Order: sequence, then C-alpha cells, then structure tokens
Amino acid sequence: QEHRYSGIVEDCCCDYETVDHLNVEVLHPSLQELVKTPFFRYFKVKLWCNCPFWPDDGMCRLRDCSVCECPESEFPESFKKPYHRGLPSDDFKCQEGKPQAAVDRTLDSKAFRGWTETDNPWTYDDETDNSEMTYVNLQLNPERYTGYTGPSARRIWDAVYSENCPKYPAEELCQEEKILYKLISGLHSSISIHIASDYLLDEATNLWGHNLKLMYDRVLRYPNRVENLYFTFLFVLRAVTKAADYLEQAEYDTGNPTEDLKTQSLMRQLLYNPKLQAACPLPFDEAKLWKGQKGPELKQKIQAQFKNISALMDCVGCEKCRLWGKLQVLGLGTALKILFSVNGEDHSGQTLQLQRNEVIALMNLLNRLSESVKFVHEMGPAAEKLIEGK
Ligand code: FAD
Repeated sequence: QEHRYSGIVEDCCCDYETVDHLNVEVLHPSLQELVKTPFFRYFKVKLWCNCPFWPDDGMCRLRDCSVCECPESEFPESFKKPYHRGLPSDDFKCQEGKPQAAVDRTLDSKAFRGWTETDNPWTYDDETDNSEMTYVNLQLNPERYTGYTGPSARRIWDAVYSENCPKYPAEELCQEEKILYKLISGLHSSISIHIASDYLLDEATNLWGHNLKLMYDRVLRYPNRVENLYFTFLFVLRAVTKAADYLEQAEYDTGNPTEDLKTQSLMRQLLYNPKLQAACPLPFDEAKLWKGQKGPELKQKIQAQFKNISALMDCVGCEKCRLWGKLQVLGLGTALKILFSVNGEDHSGQTLQLQRNEVIALMNLLNRLSESVKFVHEMGPAAEKLIEGK
C-alpha cells in the first residue's frame, strides 16, 4: 500500500517508510516491554495544581482525570524508605495527590545509587527538589481520553503556541524556532492520537475504543501535524541514541535482579540495534543548529521559551493530563539537554549527567511517540477512508 507521506521527514535524515518499518519491527516492541519494567513504570512528580499564571479552575475533579498514586507497598523494594516496608496495600485509593504519599526527600540518594541529583536547564521545575513529590505507576494511569476540554484546555494550548512559539509557518522563523514549534506540535499530535485511540465511546456502558473521526479531525486532516509527529519521534530517538553509552551504563537497580537484568538488556537492544543503525543511523542532525554569531543568544531565548512551556504544565487543570504533560515535557527537555547542553556545544564543557526521572521521562515519551506513529501508520488509512470515502 502506498505511503501517504513519502520522502524524507523534513529536517531529519530518514524517510517515512523507514521510520514506520523500524518502529513496527524494532522500536515499538522493545519500548512496550521497557516501560513495563519496575524501573521505568514509576514516575516521580509534583501533582498539585500550582499554576503561576491562572487560578485553579476546578477541572481536577473530572472522574477520568484522577491519577492513581502508588501506595508505598507497591514500590520496588529498593525504592522504599528503610523503616516503612510492607505497608498493607488496601489503603490504595485512586484519587488526587495526598500529602501522605509525599516522598521522603532523602529517598533518591539512598535508593537510586549511581544516579545524580541534577537540574534540567530546559525545564521550569527544579528536578532536585523532592518535596511534595508523589510516585505514580504509569501503567495504572494511561494517557487517554479524560473529558478535559473547553476553555481550560484551550487556553493552555493557546498560551503554548501564541505566547511561547509563534505560529508556523512563518517564513521569518529561524531553523531553531521552527524546531521548537515542531516539537510542541508533534507532542500535541501525539496527545490527540492517544485520546483518539483510547476514547470513552459510551459513558452509560463505559465502553472504550478507537475514535477514528477524532484522529482525522484533529490530526490527519492537517498533514503538517502528522509530519511534526514523525519529526518529534526522530528528534527524541536521536537524543536517546546520542546518549547511548551513558544510558547503557546507567544503574537500573530496583532490587529485583530478574527484572533489572531485563531492563538492562531491553535498553541495550534499543540503543545498539543493528537494524536501526543500518536504516537510520542519524535520525536528526543536531550539529546543524546554533551556528553563526547569534547562536548562543538564540539558544538562551529558546531555552527560556521552553521553560515557559514547562511552567504551563502546572496549569493543566486535569490531573492525569498534567501528569502526562509534565512527563512528556520533561522528556522533551531531556532530549534538548542531551542534544544541546553537553559536550562543549554550549561552550560549558559539561559532560552528560541525567537524573533517573529524566531517563524515565525520556523513554516513556519515546514510547508514547512510537505508539502514536504506529497508530497513524496502521489506522490512518482506515480513518481517511471512513471520512473521505476513499
Ligand atoms: P485542542 O487539541 O485543544 O487544540 C487547540 C488548537 O490547537 C486547535 O484548534 C488547533 O488550532 C491547534 N492544534 C491542534 N493540534 C495541533 C497540532 N498537532 N499542531 C499544531 N497546532 C495544533 N485530554 C484528554 O482527554 N486526555 C489527555 O491525556 C490530555 N492531555 C492533555 C495534556 C495537555 C498538556 C493539555 C494542554 C491538554 C490535554 N488534554 C487531554 C486536552 C486535549 O489536548 C484537548 O485540548 C481537548 O481534547 C480539546 O480539544 P480541541 O479539539 O479543542 O483541540
């Protein structure tokens, strides 16, 4: 079947067919396994509505919006505080952030050996601040339709686009600003595709399923939204492969040797996959950017814009959307950090240091994008046929 999007993904180094093939054959299966491992399924996050721009608008209380936190008994052994092992699991409730689920500040340094406490220069949150943090089991809180819509959701996207990165296409945009726009648009496409792929079709019977019309209306109708999704996928993939040596040697210890060995081996399979290296060795070429005299100044400007986008995630009224918004923006911030803030490229001579949570965000983001690319590839033609009658 002919591919609707052909040729090279704009600003990238691989074509659409290759991306689809690699994704279905190699990346998607490994990523799906990886995100289930204990190391990658617990994300540490501050879930309070803590918006620096607007007051809480009460959207947190939507039923499908609440996040199930982890009771302590559910953490892998070495994630726990030494004196609080084995709490009964029947205190498990699916509800908003509870103070008692806050994480001991000292937990990270005790439990996550080998991981540094380091802040991400691209994000608004201080990643080293562990107060009011909660662990969320991402497997129990899938990104999907939540009912979060209307002016509350709209003003976030409007702020993201109009305040932080001017509308595209604008010919006068320089390459770097265009890339920031494409990353945000690609993430937005991915979120819409997850809503479409896991949608509440019938509230009365609680029936969930695909909503192909929604995918068509929000994403497929606009070819550049699909292109931006592929672009974002390749950008994050490049960051992961660029950090391969670091990620390969990182510590994935959660106190469960069988699971932890599996995590390590899945990471290796992803990072050094011969098929990936043969078909798409350089998914994105970051060396092309920040050239010229204005480079450093431009980078600072874009970093500040991305930080604002990161701060806006605290204004997302729906808790589950906020969780995935924060995770994915941290994942993008981590990709930006890997590609642009280390190894002398910002003349700081820094070597790469990632925090455990950044790696969790990065790999979960890559998995989400991989799911979206697969869904578009597999269901896109059916959606177009349904709507356009092709
Ligand atoms: P929206 O998706 O709100 O889009 C607003 C406008 O942005 C569109 O009219 C269009 O002009 C432009 N636009 C849309 N897509 C793109 C694109 N890819 N590139 C460029 N421009 C674009 N809802 C859920 O049900 N589940 C979730 O998990 C979820 N997570 C969210 C996370 C965040 C960070 C935010 C801000 C919102 C989230 N939402 C979620 C809400 C969801 O994204 C939509 O806002 C909501 O469903 C209403 O959709 P809409 O049709 O009004 O268009």
